[in-house]
Amino acid sequence: MRTGRTAIGALALTLAAMTIGYFIGVSFHEPQVAQAAGGEVKSPTGISPDRYVYYPGTENLRKDEIRMTACGTGMPAARHGQAASCFLIELGNGDKFLFDLGTGSMANVGSYMIPYDFLTKVFLSHLHTDHWGDLGPLWAGGWTAGRTKPLEVWGPSGAREDMGTKYAVEHFMKTYNWDYMTRAAMISPIPGSITVHEFDYKKENQVIYQKNGVTIRSFPAIHTGDGPVSLILEWKGYKVVYGGDTMPNTWMLKYAKDADVVIHEVMPMPADMVKFYNQPPQLAIRASCGFHTCGPAFGKIMSELKPRLAIAFHWFNEEGTRYNQLEGIRETYDGPISMATDNLVWNIRKKVILERMAVITEEAWAVPGPGKAPAPDRTRKSEYTPWTLGHVYDTSDVEKETFDKFNKQFNLKPAPYKPQKP
Ligand SMILES: [Zn+2]
Ligand SMILES: [Zn+2]
Repeated sequence: MRTGRTAIGALALTLAAMTIGYFIGVSFHEPQVAQAAGGEVKSPTGISPDRYVYYPGTENLRKDEIRMTACGTGMPAARHGQAASCFLIELGNGDKFLFDLGTGSMANVGSYMIPYDFLTKVFLSHLHTDHWGDLGPLWAGGWTAGRTKPLEVWGPSGAREDMGTKYAVEHFMKTYNWDYMTRAAMISPIPGSITVHEFDYKKENQVIYQKNGVTIRSFPAIHTGDGPVSLILEWKGYKVVYGGDTMPNTWMLKYAKDADVVIHEVMPMPADMVKFYNQPPQLAIRASCGFHTCGPAFGKIMSELKPRLAIAFHWFNEEGTRYNQLEGIRETYDGPISMATDNLVWNIRKKVILERMAVITEEAWAVPGPGKAPAPDRTRKSEYTPWTLGHVYDTSDVEKETFDKFNKQFNLKPAPYKPQKP
């Protein structure tokens, strides 16, 4: 278990956050937002019924509840402790959606041990790698680990055809052609395909997905060029807004109103971008407050929107940065806020939003789902040429015992299991 960093880190973070909250006279988690605390332990051999933590895969979701997990809250530069942008949204009706899939985030997603068949819907806010860089691990990893159907990716168009999601995914498939062809010849090619749903980045509050009582909408964002969007998920009267990267924009104020939760980017304060990210000051101020959103601006937006909970992500959350970050936000906002880090989990209910830290394992295996694996396409030709196969070194004599034992264990008829010399 990753208790070393995660649980203790979460507790430290929570306590630190609460301490600052009291220090500056703000109650961090207003009555609507709660953290589960120990509960009563009734006997020396009993259990503590509520913890600050969430153990993935151990909790049934209530029928009218949303569970949301931050699977990436960091920045484009890779960091072990914080992957880049990714939020997993799970609904009580069984639907699951990935909003962005930034670099490194699939290691977190994998640790939640959700069958890959339930992780087929990906919604992209824009095409920076820190928002879709881990499509590869979901695509290929999930393909080898039990996904039985194609992936689906929703994403915005661009000002030109070559700046849109369709172009990006088609060229992703071209880039990974060797990966695709070699796996398609071994496993079924079906889970290796990706269906793209590209939508107009300019349309405001447009419905881009509607099924099973769930509506997902998009509206434009302003960030480094045309194309980026923010996303809204609506279900059973809940409204969750996921702001992709953006500088403050009026669409956010218009369409994120009445949201239960607004997840919005915030960059480290400009002086911290100089200190920690080694950026020249003139770039740091632009990166922090120019094509992104910095703390006081984030706070101003949340003070206008007044969500039940504001979530600040897209910054490296650590001792060196979090106090400056919070001070910047608190200049303009005194409402409920989560200073996000990876694996924070929120259960969104009508009366309360419960915030906990997921305790994940570093050594998760994929968990099978109920889907039936499609049969391999036997008509596909092997990607080996006779030249390569001419160099196969025959070790079948020493594998015979394993081979026989395996066939007996799984009741298989002996059949060739490796490519043969031509
Ligand atoms: Zn970006
Ligand atoms: Zn980003």
